[in-house]
Amino acid sequence: MSRSYVIKPELGKTYPFISHGKGIYLYDKDGKRYIDGCGGAVTASIGHGVEEIADAMYQQAKEVSFAYRSHFSSDAVEELGAKLAEWAPGSLNWTFFVSSGSEATETAQKIAIQYWQEKGKPTKNRIISRWMSYHGITMGALSMSGHVLRRKRFAPLLEDYPTITGPYPYRRPEGMSLETYALECANELERAILRIGAEQVAAFIAEPVIGASGGAVVPPDGYFQRIREICDKYEVLFIADEVMTGVGRTGKAFGIDHWGVVPDLMTLGKGMSAGYTPMAATMVSDEIIETITQGSGLIMAGHTYSANPQSAAVSLAVLQYVEKNQLFDKAAEQGAYLLARLQELADELPLIGEARGLGLLCGLEFVKDKQTKEPFPLSQGVASKVIAKAFEKGLLIYPAMGGIDGVAGDSIIVSPPLTITKAEIDELIGLLKEAIVSVSQELKD
Ligand code: PLP
Repeated sequence: MSRSYVIKPELGKTYPFISHGKGIYLYDKDGKRYIDGCGGAVTASIGHGVEEIADAMYQQAKEVSFAYRSHFSSDAVEELGAKLAEWAPGSLNWTFFVSSGSEATETAQKIAIQYWQEKGKPTKNRIISRWMSYHGITMGALSMSGHVLRRKRFAPLLEDYPTITGPYPYRRPEGMSLETYALECANELERAILRIGAEQVAAFIAEPVIGASGGAVVPPDGYFQRIREICDKYEVLFIADEVMTGVGRTGKAFGIDHWGVVPDLMTLGKGMSAGYTPMAATMVSDEIIETITQGSGLIMAGHTYSANPQSAAVSLAVLQYVEKNQLFDKAAEQGAYLLARLQELADELPLIGEARGLGLLCGLEFVKDKQTKEPFPLSQGVASKVIAKAFEKGLLIYPAMGGIDGVAGDSIIVSPPLTITKAEIDELIGLLKEAIVSVSQELKD
């Protein structure tokens, strides 16, 4: 094929063509092999080419692929909803299906606002979020996102929702204990609610572990517990954005489970179908659904492909695969090994300021000066250089650039499929080290 008519992420750049995938490996049409060290976009969590998922896909397609949700429910959708209710904490028993993480967070935003309307509190319609955050690319989701690079171009059209600092332990004030820091960060939410007025605030949204804008930044213990207390005190709903952390990625069913906190709404995507089909969801509590049922009885959200049987059957097969192969536990075990190996790299290589992570959601932050933690100017694109070098060597890793020059470092995410073995982790680390050493050399030259 000589000419492409497809709009690619980087215009003018030539991309290799994918051929096939098996396990943690992807192969392009020139026969080059890549370790999928990030599940694409922290998505391919059960690995590539799993035949039982292909079988489930085919079985459903033979029956029916699409039936509109206003006309029919289906076995696949009902079973998937029941499985998620079984896994989810507290009374998060209800699922609204969508096709992408952005749709899921935007749906959560809408349901939160609608909930307060149905309760007779229509002024409660603002969402508070954190500067270091990414909740999606559509206008509502981007309004809640602090990802400066992605906001910049559309800033005049967006709501200024991101108002508070998320915990970023690596860059906490000198000498402050993690315990104090957790409370300081959480108390910022209280100050923001008081400043805006609780009667205006519908919800607070946060990623349990900060992903695309920070590189697997794990909050200190106590942070989310205090957030829950503040939300309860001021009647603010808590939305846990589990699009990246959900379905076992961090070693438990959901990221927020690490702190025993129950959100009012929870969003899922990515690992929910492990990349086998577009699928995402917004989960909500009994209280929210009962309120809306007794009120208008109609959730004002939804998309053409919401709750289609085809995607539901695939997602259900993925969740069953995760359960059968105990991938939550595997993610915890292999994640500890991966983090230890990344820590070794951090100890050895001057370019790495910190290795961090939870389960198989790990990250590295690059710094100009390890002692002072001075970040590289973003214009230098160090993380991008490491990613490009790793790609050349046959390793895929994911960018996590907060985009706040001089504040948020240049980071990457390492998040291989939850099925990865220790030997495969060693292979991944070998290539990653080569890429980082090679970029360090270039920076010196
Ligand atoms: N929320 C979080 C935490 C994410 O990491 C992402 C994507 O990276 C999204 C929402 C948006 O998901 P999608 O790209 O599927 O729209």
